Amino acid sequence: MICYVPAEKMPEEPRAALIPATAQALVKLGLTVQVQPGLGSASHYADADYVAAGATLQPDHPAGLAAADLVFRVAKPSIEDVARLKRGALHLSFLDPFNEPALLAAFAAAGTSAVSLEMIPRTTLAQKMDALSSQASLAGYAAVIQAAARLKLALPMMMTPAGTILPSRVFVIGAGVAGLQAIATAKRLGARVEAFDTRPVVEEQVKSLGAKFVKIDLGQTGQTAGGYAQALTPEQIAKQQAGMAKICAQSDMVITTAKVFGRKAPRLLTQAMLDGMKSGSVVVDLAVESGGNVEGSRPGEDVVTPNGVLILGNPNLEGTVAHHATQVLAANFAAWLTHFWDEKKQTLRFDRDDEIMKGCLLTHDGAVVHPQFLKQS
Ligand code: NAD
Repeated sequence: MICYVPAEKMPEEPRAALIPATAQALVKLGLTVQVQPGLGSASHYADADYVAAGATLQPDHPAGLAAADLVFRVAKPSIEDVARLKRGALHLSFLDPFNEPALLAAFAAAGTSAVSLEMIPRTTLAQKMDALSSQASLAGYAAVIQAAARLKLALPMMMTPAGTILPSRVFVIGAGVAGLQAIATAKRLGARVEAFDTRPVVEEQVKSLGAKFVKIDLGQTGQTAGGYAQALTPEQIAKQQAGMAKICAQSDMVITTAKVFGRKAPRLLTQAMLDGMKSGSVVVDLAVESGGNVEGSRPGEDVVTPNGVLILGNPNLEGTVAHHATQVLAANFAAWLTHFWDEKKQTLRFDRDDEIMKGCLLTHDGAVVHPQFLKQS
């Protein structure tokens, strides 16, 4: 089987789907691995190292796609690239499936199997292939590092002969994978950290990191069987905003990571709340691309409010630590493949009853097959 890994097209995507070490692991399994030259250049993995690991360089991208049985890549492909795939090929990448009905239709029309990294179930068995978690964790870390670099304050308390500097205050909204890592990072840097999440189970995790859990009574909230937050009613959101306004006003850094899987992110920081914040405070909106938690945040842009609050809208914070993000992402790809690889037959074990396959396979054999996306196709 040929596994082709193209270099990412968009200049703002420095990550890659494969590193030399995982290329070597795939070659060991019996796959023929082809990579587009420059695959790892933005994340500092050299072509020569892929070749030394047993991969071959494929400079002809359309030919690479046409010959591949398997394609691994980070970002969703163009419809043009999907049309180049061979019938029966399997394509594994982020697909943004809730917003891409035309792309799913193109995969189906091409007779290919589209597998979505976003839809891999968040189960213990699938943990090794959970790219949402591996990337969110680094994004949460990077959010604090980026914000700290733009803040005109030190984070830790410092007792100096010239007086005491008080610790900066960090407020993390949404304490899932990214939020918990942001809390841990801010704590390590010495900040005073508070956090809020609508899932009550999170309180203990926040406290175990040494942060304070902010209590806001929103009535009935909870989580889905998959561990995701349930969407709030407009009344609950208004209550949450009122409860958070004072904390935002006291905070030097606010990191928002609140998402509701498959839906637009809730708007949690209004203009009025930003108006109440201190000049020089920094806000990072990790949900900027899925609707934005912060009023006025813009994907890929830094925005300064009239009262001097800086809002960072980098939608690819994990890309700022691209070498490590690529390392763990490549491990996620390799773990997915290994789970489904039949070493004896030297092919993919295409088990449609496997819970992981059921969760992440969106198109197969000419049709959209995932129940969540049948309606939109
Ligand atoms: P996510 O990115 O969908 O959401 C981020 C956080 O935002 C979540 O903690 C969510 O509760 C929170 N949120 C949503 N609306 C909010 C609001 N109005 N105000 C404040 N917070 C809000 O979620 P995620 O971080 O990818 O994962 C969430 C959870 O899924 C994890 O904490 C975990 O319980 C579970 N999970 C399990 C596994 C596993 O078992 N392998 C892996 C990953 C995640």
